Amino acid sequence: MKQMPVLFVGHGSPMNAIENNVYAQSWITMGKRLPTPKAILCLSAHWYIHGTHILGTEKPETIHDFWGFPEELYKQSYPAPGAPGLARDIQKLLDHTSVTWDLGWGFDHGTWSVTKRLFPEANIPTSQLSIDYSKPSTFHYDLGKKLAALRSQGVLILGSGNIVHNLGLVRFEEDAKPFEWAEEFDATARQLIEKRDHQKLCDYESLGKAAQLSIPTPDHYLPLLISLGATTTKDELSYFCSGIEFGSVSMTACLFSEEPL
Ligand code: ZN
Repeated sequence: MKQMPVLFVGHGSPMNAIENNVYAQSWITMGKRLPTPKAILCLSAHWYIHGTHILGTEKPETIHDFWGFPEELYKQSYPAPGAPGLARDIQKLLDHTSVTWDLGWGFDHGTWSVTKRLFPEANIPTSQLSIDYSKPSTFHYDLGKKLAALRSQGVLILGSGNIVHNLGLVRFEEDAKPFEWAEEFDATARQLIEKRDHQKLCDYESLGKAAQLSIPTPDHYLPLLISLGATTTKDELSYFCSGIEFGSVSMTACLFSEEPL
């Protein structure tokens, strides 16, 4: 394959790493369809810091960055090798951005809860690039544009967040119905993704009340913009996961690929 596909995955609850549910099943199926990447670059909502950092560790730790979950989840590890070579390439590629070499982070659950399902053998070198909370949405979109060059080198760009993510309003009751605004914004975002109207998606603050409720903070939304930045008009879009978890978390996942898988 000349260009590796680009993914955006709505990761939702960390429990999706171990529960056998429709979300996990869709990620497992996608992992089987994907060509084997030479390396993975993950843009995780859970590495939301000041500055652009690249994970340079050779053997990244599995970080259990959540509280109050069952013991089994804390026992999970994802022992994939790090990708210092890819990290160095990324520093060069982003030469107009100050990229800090980071040996203190590891794989947070935005990364491993998804890669564990996509690539359960944990044998593909993987790195993470942080999401800089001090930068506007267009910065992240432009970052994706620069990272697009990695696709021809067999690197899978994996954005991991959620298009709709409002933890303040989650509904924990069984069979919780999605909030109307959550369904509305998920549909709006999909339409804009389909139309490649990336400018409007970057300008999400002007998309009205449903967008405001869906993106109370941009941490889970910005990985989508990085993924979109890495796509071109040659990519075909398909969704491989849908649904709203806990009423206010969209599980929409997108595959962008030049060739059918
Ligand atoms: Zn998350």
